[in-house]
Amino acid sequence: MFSYDFIQKLLGLQGIKVTSVYVNNGILYVCATSDASFAICPRCGQVAQYVHDRRRQPCEHLDIWGMKTVILLEKKRYKCDCDPYHPFDEEFAFIRRYQRRTIPYEKYIFLLTHKNTVQNVCDIVNISEGACQRIYVHYANTILDNLEPEPLRILGIDEIATKKGHNYDTIIYNQETGSVVAVLDGRTKDVLVKYLMSFPKSVREGVEAVSMDMSRSYCFGVLECMPNAKPVIDRFHIADNLYRCVDDARKHIQNRIKKYGNKHEVFGIRWALLKDVEDLTREQALRLILACTKYPEIEKLHYLKEEFRTFFRLESKESALGFLEYFKDLVEQYDIPELKGFCKTIDNWLPYILNYYDYQISNGLVEGSNHKIKNIKRRAYGYRNSRNFELRIKLEFECA
Ligand SMILES: [Zn+2]
Repeated sequence: MFSYDFIQKLLGLQGIKVTSVYVNNGILYVCATSDASFAICPRCGQVAQYVHDRRRQPCEHLDIWGMKTVILLEKKRYKCDCDPYHPFDEEFAFIRRYQRRTIPYEKYIFLLTHKNTVQNVCDIVNISEGACQRIYVHYANTILDNLEPEPLRILGIDEIATKKGHNYDTIIYNQETGSVVAVLDGRTKDVLVKYLMSFPKSVREGVEAVSMDMSRSYCFGVLECMPNAKPVIDRFHIADNLYRCVDDARKHIQNRIKKYGNKHEVFGIRWALLKDVEDLTREQALRLILACTKYPEIEKLHYLKEEFRTFFRLESKESALGFLEYFKDLVEQYDIPELKGFCKTIDNWLPYILNYYDYQISNGLVEGSNHKIKNIKRRAYGYRNSRNFELRIKLEFECA
């Protein structure tokens, strides 16, 4: 009889012997059967030898010589004395129960999903989106489940925009390892509390600091669930808040000037006002100088914005407190309502802003990863289920 040893070696699967091979419509069919003549009964653990019937199950495998390869696997059903009316299927180590693809082939599909969109993978290997997702979820979970659980000591919480900025999700990450702990649907306190409470008390009590924006829901959620955690207001969000106030003030000033001055002298200065002064282009700088010379309100606004940059360079609580007192006085004196509002926000969050000097953390890690998350989102298009999106983010940060 012709030997199929060679094909068997090419398949690289244990526990089967190849009985015949043929090609039809460009597909390589390999008929194979188990090389064992008995099976262990899953109910009683005894050896069963009586074969009840045999069925052929097609099972996709890795391509051989560029040909799609299907193993026509003969599966025996064995009868065991413990329950002769319910024969059981023999199992193969290279195929997961109820699956129609070998494990090496599934792993190959998983590898493809890692850097491709789902749609792309479905096209390459010609499988349905659902099947592709199930494979992804299984292997991604296997990897994540096998990771050593990491202690949660210093965390960061931030919102990420999903669906073109209309929806927000919450991302929690470990500041010490850079890995993503969770992605939650929405950004309310309830959502956060429900998630945080899923950790045992000892874990929650072990968290020392959490960086976040100036959002009540995150702050109160953290304080409620993690009694020893210090909220640390993220510096990028302080700067963001300032820029928003400066921009609002600019709009008001421009509207006033429109009534009595020459509006062309003050329009088109938006970016010139918001950028750091040394980063301005020559044209932006000239425009800004003109506007500042003619309109003192704009000059004051620009001065205050530049002055606040000092804050981010201070290295102690004392100097930060001292600076903020000075800055508040200056704002009072210059009398710009929007910046008074900014000072009020700073006052409200002051203790948590100052916590920065105990834990020098920020959300820069996640802000910097925004691009990465956007890419993941693009590839995850088709992963309508948000758990799958979370799985992807976690895995990709883990494998970074
Ligand atoms: Zn049995």
